[in-house]
Amino acid sequence: MSAERHVYIGTDGGATTSKVGGVWHDGTVVSTRLLQRPTGSALGPQAVVAGWVASITEYLTEHGLDWDQVEGVGLAIPGPFQRYGVFDKSPNLPAAFAGFDVHTAYTSALAERAGRAVPLVVGNDGNMAGVAEAQHVRGGTNATVMVLAPGSGLGCAYVDRHGLPMDGDTLAGMEAAHMPAPLHLLGARPLACGCGRTWGCVEVYTTLSGLPTLLADKLETNPDHELARSPLDPKQRALALRGLAQKGDTLALELFDFQARALGLHVASLAMALDTEFVVIGGGLMDPESTSQTFRDRYLQIIRDTALPYLWPAQRARMSIVPAALGDLSQAIGAALVALYYSRSRSSSPAN
Ligand SMILES: [Zn+2]
Repeated sequence: MSAERHVYIGTDGGATTSKVGGVWHDGTVVSTRLLQRPTGSALGPQAVVAGWVASITEYLTEHGLDWDQVEGVGLAIPGPFQRYGVFDKSPNLPAAFAGFDVHTAYTSALAERAGRAVPLVVGNDGNMAGVAEAQHVRGGTNATVMVLAPGSGLGCAYVDRHGLPMDGDTLAGMEAAHMPAPLHLLGARPLACGCGRTWGCVEVYTTLSGLPTLLADKLETNPDHELARSPLDPKQRALALRGLAQKGDTLALELFDFQARALGLHVASLAMALDTEFVVIGGGLMDPESTSQTFRDRYLQIIRDTALPYLWPAQRARMSIVPAALGDLSQAIGAALVALYYSRSRSSSPAN
C-alpha cells in the first residue's frame, strides 16, 4: 500500500475516559472529532486493553479506514511507571493495574486484531500532549518547545528538535511540577505536595492542588469576602475562584496573579536548562470556554513579565509564550504523532 494511505493511531488512555485520534503519514490530523469511550478501569487491565482495540476499530470504520492501513499506534497513559510500559501504583487506577505491563499486553492485542505486528510506543500523557502542541506551534521549523499545563496538577513537557518528548529513563523525565519553587521570590511558605515532597513543589503554587490552602490564607486577612462566609468546602471554594476572577473579583485575581508569577519563575528556571524558543501554556485557565480573553491575556502577560528578567538576552528576544491550541485533542494526536516519528526513524535507519 502506498504511504499516502498509512495512518498512525493514538490512544489516550485516561483514568476515566479513553480517546482515539489519528494522523496521516505526513502528520496531518485525520479528524478533529475524537472518539471517546469510558476506560472501564474497574473491569481490570485486560478489559481496558480490549476496549482500546475495539475503539480503534470503531474509529477506523467511522473514517472509512481499515486495520491494513495502521502503521503504528501510540499510547498516552498517566504515570507513575515502574519501568517502560509498566504501571506503578496510582491514586487514579484500581490496584490491579500496579505492575501491569500495558506495553506487552496492548502489543499482543493489536497484533491479534490486525493479523500482523503493529509497532506500539507508550508515553506519559502529558508528554504526548506536548508533542501535539509543539507540532502546532513550531510548524515547519525544528524549534524546541516546553509545555506547561496547570490544572488539577501541573502537566509539563519538553519537546526536542525531532518533535519527541523528553521521557527520561523511567518515563519520569520532565516531571517539572515537582521541582521546588523559589519561595523567597514568591514570599510563600513551603507547602506539602500530593507527591509527598515538602520542599515547595511548583505544582502547589500554580494549580488547583494548592489553591484551597492559598485561598484559606487569603481569607484570613479578608474575612468579609463572600467565600469566607460560603457553605462550600475548601476545594469547592477554590473551584469558584475561576468564575469570580472573570467578574473582576480582586481577591480571586490576586490569587491567579500569584499563580502566574509562580509559573513565570518556573518558565525562567526551566529555560536555564532547556533554552526553548516556545513556551506553550495550557490548562483550565487557558480554556476559551471557561475564561475571558482579558483574563487569559493578563495571566500570560504576568508569566512573561516575571520570566523575562531572569532570561539570557538572546532568550529574552526570542522566546514566545503562547496559549495551547488543541485542548482535548492533544494527547491522542500527540500519541499518534510519536508513533509516526518512530516509524520514520525506523525507516531511515540503515540497519532496517
Ligand atoms: Zn510534588
